[in-house]
Amino acid sequence: MERSAYKTRHLVVDPGQPDAAIIQEAGALLREGELVAFPTETVYGLGANALNAQAVAGIFVAKGRPADNPLIVHVDSPRSLERYIDQVPPILAQLAARFWPGPLTLVLRGGHAFAPVVTGGLDTVAVRVPDHPVALALIRAAGVPVAAPSANVSGRPSPTTAAHVLDDLSGKIALVLDGGPAGLGVESTVLDVSGNCPVILRPGGTIQRDLEAVLGEVKVAPDVDGGAIAGDRPRSPGMKYTHYAPRASLVLFEGYDPGRVAAGVLDEARRLVADGRKVGILTYRETASLYDGQGYSVVVVGKRSDPGTVAASLYASLRRFDYLGVEVILAEGIASDGLGMVVENRLRRAAGGHVVTL
Ligand code: AMP
Ligand code: MG
Repeated sequence: MERSAYKTRHLVVDPGQPDAAIIQEAGALLREGELVAFPTETVYGLGANALNAQAVAGIFVAKGRPADNPLIVHVDSPRSLERYIDQVPPILAQLAARFWPGPLTLVLRGGHAFAPVVTGGLDTVAVRVPDHPVALALIRAAGVPVAAPSANVSGRPSPTTAAHVLDDLSGKIALVLDGGPAGLGVESTVLDVSGNCPVILRPGGTIQRDLEAVLGEVKVAPDVDGGAIAGDRPRSPGMKYTHYAPRASLVLFEGYDPGRVAAGVLDEARRLVADGRKVGILTYRETASLYDGQGYSVVVVGKRSDPGTVAASLYASLRRFDYLGVEVILAEGIASDGLGMVVENRLRRAAGGHVVTL
């Protein structure tokens, strides 16, 4: 089917009490092979029936996603996985009891029941139970597992509102369910439990400390900040691609002393403005007053001391620079602790190696 022929529908649902008729209709569309975007607690997802190869292939076309970047399968409960995974490992029950529904994706062996495009030819599959009433109701109404990456054009910042989804995918998908802004604002943590020791392949909404409280020491894969892929094969193929990037180029400024970092950002902004460039600064509540905004745009992304506030508005802030027509974003880094680690990881990837240490 020619997906560019779509007039994408936009239906608003109350997350507190999702309209049953709308959810049933959206579920039927999914089951029948259409693409439906929906809110989750992390970011908006672009769903397809994970048992239908043609439907899943449509996700890759709509997003322009490389075919070897596998998708996360969303289910409504750990029990429903038993139908699709031959041997559900004991560690799954332990992690599910503590973290599901929630922003934790588990990479397991198996998954052959799903369309092969879901796993990108790997012998593992990534699964999670989202913690959002609209997402859960939709998966139940569909009656099938739902493969869903973030509902953005590949490489762009993930969408945290239905408006972001429409900006990227209008005309390419059947429907977007609008449940208001996604709460957490960053993606799930991807934890590989297919081997002997659990490894974080992508930091996300479930922080390392909380995983360690259940599992003991948890390693973080060395490639998570966008460097070279460790080992002989990429463990999480998605990590090798440019990600989370606004249209503007982004330069990340890091250092222990936030005042010194801000001074460096200001110097660079003035130099670029004098050169006639359209500049934006990404800063935090604590350092925002150091910028006068003369000739450049300032976006305050949250409180440095409360990284959850930064995670919640990070992607919307990156998109705002695009709406402002900014060419170069100068972004202050944040301490890599808790959700700060997730924000720092996304900023580094958006910077694609343009990091200045002060
Ligand atoms: P997205 O849904 O766009 O946020 O991306 C999903 C992430 O999960 C990507 O980084 C994928 O590479 C990763 N992923 C999905 N399936 C697997 C798998 N079987 N093994 C390792 N990583 C995976
Ligand atoms: Mg994504």
